[in-house]
Amino acid sequence: MNMMSIYFLITYLVLRKQSRSLNPKFQCPVCAINCGETRARNRHIWAEHSEYAKENDIPSEQEACPFPGCRYRGRKDNVPRHYKTQHSQ
Ligand SMILES: [Zn+2]
Ligand SMILES: [Zn+2]
Repeated sequence: MNMMSIYFLITYLVLRKQSRSLNPKFQCPVCAINCGETRARNRHIWAEHSEYAKENDIPSEQEACPFPGCRYRGRKDNVPRHYKTQHSQ
């Protein structure tokens, strides 16, 4: 392997790495931050740009509390805990 092909190989690997980390699927469409994965991106959009999330139907891991009149929303695994502490007296 000569110097030139090593150079091209490195360039190729660097470009491949960059294009993966800049995958627009994982990029916040509002502030362009890269979140690395879809779930993290969606969580970020809900946390930082909730208006955008509502308008664009961004999937949310948040679930509403089933208690009538309660406005609590939380992560799926937090809702039962909330329900227990707030509504089971
Ligand atoms: Zn953002
Ligand atoms: Zn509740």
